[in-house]
Amino acid sequence: MSVDPLRWLDERAAERVRAGLRRELRARTWRGEAIDLASNDYLGLTRHPEVVDGAVEAVRRWGAGSTGSRLVTGTTTEHERLEAELAEFVGAEAGLVFASGYAANLGAVTALAGRGTLVVSDAGSHASLVDACRLSRARVEVAPHRDVDAIDQILFQRTEERALVLTDSVFSADGDLAPLTDLHRVARANGAVLIVDEAHGLGVRGDGGRGLVHEHGLAGEPDLVITATLSKAFAAQGGIVLASERVRAHLIDSARTFIFDTGLAPAAVGAARAALRVLRRDPDMAARVLARAADLARIAGVPEPDSAVVSVVLGEAQIAYDAAVACRERGLSVGCFRPPSVPEGTSRLRLTARANLTDAELDIIATVLGDVLAHARGQAAVPA
Ligand code: PMP
Repeated sequence: MSVDPLRWLDERAAERVRAGLRRELRARTWRGEAIDLASNDYLGLTRHPEVVDGAVEAVRRWGAGSTGSRLVTGTTTEHERLEAELAEFVGAEAGLVFASGYAANLGAVTALAGRGTLVVSDAGSHASLVDACRLSRARVEVAPHRDVDAIDQILFQRTEERALVLTDSVFSADGDLAPLTDLHRVARANGAVLIVDEAHGLGVRGDGGRGLVHEHGLAGEPDLVITATLSKAFAAQGGIVLASERVRAHLIDSARTFIFDTGLAPAAVGAARAALRVLRRDPDMAARVLARAADLARIAGVPEPDSAVVSVVLGEAQIAYDAAVACRERGLSVGCFRPPSVPEGTSRLRLTARANLTDAELDIIATVLGDVLAHARGQAAVPA
């Protein structure tokens, strides 16, 4: 071989190492597991006996895989029940389960937009919504973060007949909230559909964890579509679109990630149904996540968050990375967000609260995080 066509990969890798942007996969081991402040297991249900049983029973009954596309053999009564139960829970008319939240976003946006559509997306929208915009072939405008007036103007000035507005309800990097009431008002006034990704809102915000859309009294609005993942509060895997029957029928006929993807595995569906049952029985879990997030924020010396996400901005990527490693070495598993996930100079630790964090765990967290953050902030204060 004369030239190595992938030599540029080594150059890129070296650049990432120099910039402190190397990413590593670290397998969890069963023994000596760290205190989890990094996962999306907001309700702490992923090992709940009832949720585990839900998965196991579904596997025994339906098998390990779903065996095919939802349109062929991949739909079980378990899928249909989950769709009906989650729709009822959030106050939507209907639900449609996808293989992941990512697939739900790609499917919903590309089926509802196309050439001749304008899509306006918040600058903080999740990567799956960004990719959905690119795939949609619509004209895409990115609006400044949480800027309702800007969105109003963009919608008002459009030449396209159809329009969609895309936003996360709880933004994944900072944990801040979308102004849903105003967004819906502006979308409706301009004849646009509002698509809200509730990945980080369901199970955490709203009455008994019904999400931020429900909290804003917008559940069931015909021009609002919710997308969500089953992999966070619902402790499983998979995605769902919650909307009107009319939208559901359209997605079944035309969402490519629904039609051409294998149906979600029965285990995940059974686990998510069980998680929903547990949450319905103990609706205070949602409030407990927020209370624990407030505890974490106090320990970290940052403002109280509106969600489970506690963002501790430290600045340079290397400082955040070193702080995350120091936490891990002392038994705390924390998230570390660096560019391109967040803007340059705002690298951070991202802590996520769980409803079942114990007081004993919080004591350990206070000690370790106190030390690590004092060191990191000391470094950040030294001019380069
Ligand atoms: N939307 C948001 C806001 C997310 O944070 C995520 C997952 N990180 C997704 C969508 C994708 O969901 P899933 O992991 O189920 O594909």
